[in-house]
Amino acid sequence: MSTQVERIVIAGAGQAGATVAFGLRKAGFDGSITVIGDEAHLPYERPQLSKEMLNLEKGEHRPIRSQEDYEAQSIQLELGARLTRVDADGRQVLLDDGRKVGYDRLVIATGVKPRQLSGPFDHTGRACYLRTVEDARRLREDIRSGRPLAIIGGGVIGLEVAAAARAAGCHVTVIEAGERLMSRSVDEIASAYLDRAHRRDGVDIRYGASAVELGEDGQLKLSDGSVVPAQSLLVGIGVTPNIQGFEHLGITDTAGVLVDGHGRSPIGSIYATGDIASQPHGQGHGRIETWANAQDHALNLVKNLLGEDVPYQSPIWFWSDQGKINLQVVGNANQGKRFIRGDEHGDAFVVFRLDDERRVTGCTTINSPRDMAVARRWVKQGVRVDPQRLVDPVTPLRDCAI
Ligand SMILES: Cc1cc2nc3c(=O)[nH]c(=O)nc-3n(C[C@H](O)[C@H](O)[C@H](O)COP(=O)(O)OP(=O)(O)OC[C@H]3O[C@@H](n4cnc5c(N)ncnc54)[C@H](O)[C@@H]3O)c2cc1C
Repeated sequence: MSTQVERIVIAGAGQAGATVAFGLRKAGFDGSITVIGDEAHLPYERPQLSKEMLNLEKGEHRPIRSQEDYEAQSIQLELGARLTRVDADGRQVLLDDGRKVGYDRLVIATGVKPRQLSGPFDHTGRACYLRTVEDARRLREDIRSGRPLAIIGGGVIGLEVAAAARAAGCHVTVIEAGERLMSRSVDEIASAYLDRAHRRDGVDIRYGASAVELGEDGQLKLSDGSVVPAQSLLVGIGVTPNIQGFEHLGITDTAGVLVDGHGRSPIGSIYATGDIASQPHGQGHGRIETWANAQDHALNLVKNLLGEDVPYQSPIWFWSDQGKINLQVVGNANQGKRFIRGDEHGDAFVVFRLDDERRVTGCTTINSPRDMAVARRWVKQGVRVDPQRLVDPVTPLRDCAI
């Protein structure tokens, strides 16, 4: 690393921020590292919020690393501190308590926050969102109470919560404005499976409807005129980027902080990673809101911060656990020619997507995690396959590549 980089400041004490900090030390960086986070907790991974933390038999959340680890690695943690503005010319950040922290390199890892449902539909203050430990604790108490739960949004968060609440015996209604579940990230076949599986589990699913008003009596009026019980209410309708404090820099777009394939923003001393990064990927440019991106992009960024020149090239991959359902997606699940391995009306099957040259460009596995391990490799390496063998579940996957 060039000698003048002695101070690295990381804005956002979440998964990506912590990964960069420890990654820098592991790679031998011996300058100062300061991680600034507005939550009171040590950085933690969020997937546990909608899974383990909503399982009434499991415990509290776990941080990624302990306080002692930060001390041992000389990583300065400023928790409960909010970055309010960046002075890019003076290379310093301003915190909400008035302090200024100077940097040679700034890494923005501030993530996203839940999109709020607008309008006067909730006079009761009962609606909750799910992004933080506090949100998960509150939702867990709602679930523990056994009261009927309405969930606005049939995306990943809504469906994971639906499964957890059903496991605890709650009456659950999912209200989806569109025509199918998880439409942003899976295709019609996987959506149809999710619909079947959640209904079988007792979830009431309403499509093409939105929330109009939540009454004091816990009845939620929908736009189609129907009414559903909502003594508890979760809103999971997407997210918006945490770009406050960076907007004046001219490095943001509607998705987040603009970065190139190396994680660099248009200002050379500023980088971004994790959910906040509006980055190039196989399907264009934008945010990638996944655990794997917060991990792998952050680790790749460490190399570039330390003077290497390594573009980030991992295909998008994520998983979702919805009760007994394990769903995973790699690459683009919505484009390309579709080939289905296994019975799409059963409980375990795989949907492959191939381009015109029979290269695997996307894959969705339903309760077939082992096949995903192969598919991830294929998508990453652009492997070509024989479609006829692919759709024959008796032929081992390894024999399908050509
Ligand atoms: C409930 C839930 C379940 C999930 N499940 C899965 C899953 O099963 N599989 C999967 O692949 N992905 C999952 N994800 C997505 C994954 O957790 C995220 O992609 C990941 O957390 C992104 O990490 P990050 O560090 O970019 O952001 P975060 O972990 O959100 O960290 C950003 C931090 O920055 C802080 N911050 C924001 N603004 C400021 C500021 N101005 N000053 C200081 N601090 C600030 C935030 O409060 C936050 O603490 C899930 C997410 C949620 C919410």
